[in-house]
Amino acid sequence: MACVIGQQLRLYNSLGRRVEDFTPCAARGGEQSVGLYSCGPTVYSYQHLGNMRPYVFADTLRRALRWKGIPYRHVVNITDVGHAVADSDTGEDKLEVAAARERRSVEDIAAFYTKDWLAALAALGVEPADEYPRASAYVPQMIEFAKRLTELGYTYELPSGLYFDTSKSPGYGALALLDLEGQIEGARVEHVEGRRHKSDFALWRAEEPGVRRVMRWDSPWGWGAPGWHLECSVMSMSLLGAHFDIHTGGIDHRQLHHVNEIAQSEAYLGDGQPWVKYWLHNEFILLDSGKISKSAGHTLRLANLVEDGYHPMAYRLFLLGGHYRSQLDFTSAALDAAQATLVRLVHRVSGLRPLPLVETLAVARDLIPAQDKQAASYVEQLDEAISADLATPRVLALLQESLRDTSLSAEGLRVVVAAADGLLGLGLGTLKAAEVEGRRSLSSLEPGEVETIERLVSERTQARKEKNWPRADEIRAELDRLGVQVTDTPSGPTWELR
Ligand code: AMP
Ligand code: ZN
Repeated sequence: MACVIGQQLRLYNSLGRRVEDFTPCAARGGEQSVGLYSCGPTVYSYQHLGNMRPYVFADTLRRALRWKGIPYRHVVNITDVGHAVADSDTGEDKLEVAAARERRSVEDIAAFYTKDWLAALAALGVEPADEYPRASAYVPQMIEFAKRLTELGYTYELPSGLYFDTSKSPGYGALALLDLEGQIEGARVEHVEGRRHKSDFALWRAEEPGVRRVMRWDSPWGWGAPGWHLECSVMSMSLLGAHFDIHTGGIDHRQLHHVNEIAQSEAYLGDGQPWVKYWLHNEFILLDSGKISKSAGHTLRLANLVEDGYHPMAYRLFLLGGHYRSQLDFTSAALDAAQATLVRLVHRVSGLRPLPLVETLAVARDLIPAQDKQAASYVEQLDEAISADLATPRVLALLQESLRDTSLSAEGLRVVVAAADGLLGLGLGTLKAAEVEGRRSLSSLEPGEVETIERLVSERTQARKEKNWPRADEIRAELDRLGVQVTDTPSGPTWELR
């Protein structure tokens, strides 16, 4: 394990609700690499813009670890079974509902939406995880896990399945700051016949009498499917070891999913140790508080932004412009501002290329010219910012400040910019100006604008027929002003948006 250099990395741990020094397992006598597990998507539909934040956030965390010279292994699960509609313990599986709706197999549904999600992450510059385990491939291990919990006396069986008895879990709900009973009135409205405590949750969801599920496995508790929380405990332990360093997810998981993961995992391990030391959660992106283009807020996804002429990295920039623990309002104005900043940054940085590869503080310090004290100071400030619970807005501000700072040497500036970009992951070293400036799509036009353009194009054709060149030129200038490019072809003029 490379030693931690520079500022101590400090992270906000939801367990205890405070910013803490990050001490990797290896330093505590465990695994060599930092084990990092992020709850992944339920692949029954497109992932919306909000769903992208957990992975951009985890990507930022990985970049921070790398910056510090801390090796890591990252696992992100794919939920393709077990997640019932409304996060409940009974009822239909989200994947099965989607398969029926789209008249496709559950495998097709999972494969299709997984591929779409991975493509969106790649467009956002999120580096791939080391493993993407699928829940459906781990059901035998989940059954073994639940059997062990049963042997240890943590479970009870009901006609609807096998339940975890949360009253047997000391400290149940500590992550969520739940009260002793682990019950928040109204938080879970679902009534389950025979359930001993409201907080008890399903490890195994038995098939309802007379219903044959599409995804079904045989188990000691009959045919059925695993409960939602089981997969993350089983897959993370299988791939990262019994105890690992960091578990991440959206803030909603802090109240239920992660609480239950902890309860079953600590019961299973029974070694009196906290299962995972650091729990990190990103806040939500608020999609419906601002007017967004023409799509409904809750289904708005990255592809819609691209159709509207935004570059995916503008969305990444928008995300990083806020701290991951702050709620962010997604609005067209905010995205426009991010897009404009991205264009400016790319233009400015193009002149500095090629940028060196600077992914670690050690390399940054090494490459800064000895006499450039100012550039060296920027590198230390970048380190301070990322070490302070991943303060990306500050990293972004330092990047912009350094680009305006005329006291830096050319080489010093290149190193600072490359270092900041290594942390932010915007790809400033390679993005092309023409690519980020984008082409607007027709759907971005105001009502009536297409008609206006069509009218101008035909007036220009008429003017040309009449050999009224000044008028034709005037109209072309007007179209130019509207961002419309006209091309004359043998079959007449065509036009497109620039
Ligand atoms: P799901 O596919 O519903 O399990 O969600 C995938 C991830 O996105 C989870 O970690 C959620 O906590 C997170 N998430 C869902 N909605 C939002 C949002 N609006 N903003 C940020 N994260 C979200
Ligand atoms: Zn999970």
